[in-house]
Amino acid sequence: MTKYIFITGGVISSLGKGIASASIAKILESRSLKVTLMKLDPYINVDPGTMNPYQHGEVYVTEDGAETDLDLGHYERFTKASMTKFNNATTGQVYNTVISRERRGDYLGKTIQVIPHITDEIKSRIKKVAQVSQAEIVLIEVGGTVGDIESLPFLEAARQFKLDAGEKNVLYIHLTLIPYIKVADEIKTKPTQHSVQTLRQIGIQPDILICRTEKQLSDEVKEKISLFCNVRKETVIESPDVESIYQVPLVFKGQILDEIILSHFGLISKPSNLKDWEKNVVERLFSPKQTVQVAVVGKYIGLQDAYKSIYEAITHAGISNQVKVEVKKIDSEDIEKYGPEKLLKGIGAVLVPGGFGGRGIEGKIKAIEFARKNKIPFLGLCLGMQCAVAEFARGACGLKDANSTEFKSKTKNPVISLLVEQKDVLELGGTMRLGAYPCRIKANTLAAKIYKQKFISERHRHRYEFNNKFRKKLESKGMVFSGIYQKRNLVEIVELKGHPYFIAVQFHPEFKSKPDAAHPLFSGLIRAAAEKK
Ligand code: GLN
Repeated sequence: MTKYIFITGGVISSLGKGIASASIAKILESRSLKVTLMKLDPYINVDPGTMNPYQHGEVYVTEDGAETDLDLGHYERFTKASMTKFNNATTGQVYNTVISRERRGDYLGKTIQVIPHITDEIKSRIKKVAQVSQAEIVLIEVGGTVGDIESLPFLEAARQFKLDAGEKNVLYIHLTLIPYIKVADEIKTKPTQHSVQTLRQIGIQPDILICRTEKQLSDEVKEKISLFCNVRKETVIESPDVESIYQVPLVFKGQILDEIILSHFGLISKPSNLKDWEKNVVERLFSPKQTVQVAVVGKYIGLQDAYKSIYEAITHAGISNQVKVEVKKIDSEDIEKYGPEKLLKGIGAVLVPGGFGGRGIEGKIKAIEFARKNKIPFLGLCLGMQCAVAEFARGACGLKDANSTEFKSKTKNPVISLLVEQKDVLELGGTMRLGAYPCRIKANTLAAKIYKQKFISERHRHRYEFNNKFRKKLESKGMVFSGIYQKRNLVEIVELKGHPYFIAVQFHPEFKSKPDAAHPLFSGLIRAAAEKK
């Protein structure tokens, strides 16, 4: 019998519900239980693929090519669960399905309503995840904050779920905030009381409260929360601010949250073992032997979530090299204004991430030129590779107006362009080259040294590709095409001869990096920066 844990959020957003969910999954997995996670998103978009990063943060791509919420990135980084298109459901998807069914005539004669039609569809999506993953425990994170109009159908489905799956097989966890009021020097439980009241009005009595707090919760405070929120005192879990998100599983384990959950479900399993995580992730993270600086030159620099997986992958690379990495976030438009010398002088490595649209492109190209000429370790991702190709074509091959047709459709030297099949695409949602594709690595190249494998598989999210008409020309000047998707003869990896670490890839390696298994392209970058120092 599958067990289900619903995780809701109260008081405010940005409390770290995704990290909390991933951390709970982690401690359960460390007890040899098979877990998976799912995110329910209340917005009406079918997926976040068409949203601006400022609206939504990063779009996380799964192996099967779904464009999903960035919390799925946390789920994959913390656990062994693999995410698929089933692991993220949005209001848009749910309504899309129900409305298509109605048009087909599947509900002939009936009025279609939120209850039961929408809630049935939500529940069936949750059951589908259980069935596809074969997990013993499915954790379902409900997006938004309790009290939002938008998330009501999801919460209603969560309430009903107990009737379908049975009392003993469903658990509700509510993540909430206990604010500290400085002038009164007091922590306040009232917002949490109200948030739990709202949940109870909907018919959900949380079993466990996870309290985000700056200050330690005294016994009295826990008793008060317990009394007013109708939860046992032992199940009031404290979640203080920590330096690294990777400490959170240890914080929960310290309060035997795994035991509390298993006893609710009546499950017996092996004791939890987080020793490796503690030793190989947390301890290494806090005992760096050296510091390096990496510049991330992008256009969504102001928003931490826009390049979430990239920043995490850089952290993982620091862990694996035992190096403290300071990330210098540089707006590529500032490079256009002030020049690369001013902003990149003395930097240990340069990373240019993916992106869409022409704004800031010339700044990225200038940063890449600076890294190429000054032999600074460089990693280009997706758009970062496309810019590296344009820069090399201009700077080393004399093709002055080399560009991607995404930015200059009439360029004489379209080094990056659309494949024929993309030229006829009219709809923007879900129509890029998405998900995992295989790639063959050329022997005796930097890529071969980094991957130590002949065949790899990486995730994609782009429309434009390297234009093979320019391959010979660029090759003759020292660009190496070290990774190819053979079936379509598409360039996946480029690198430069005579540079210590200059590599750029058409895919997104950041999605596969883990804290205890850093992605080799990232750990190679940090190693190269550390060695240079
Ligand atoms: N805009 C580019 C393309 O569509 C790159 C996309 C990306 O960096 N993810 O091909």
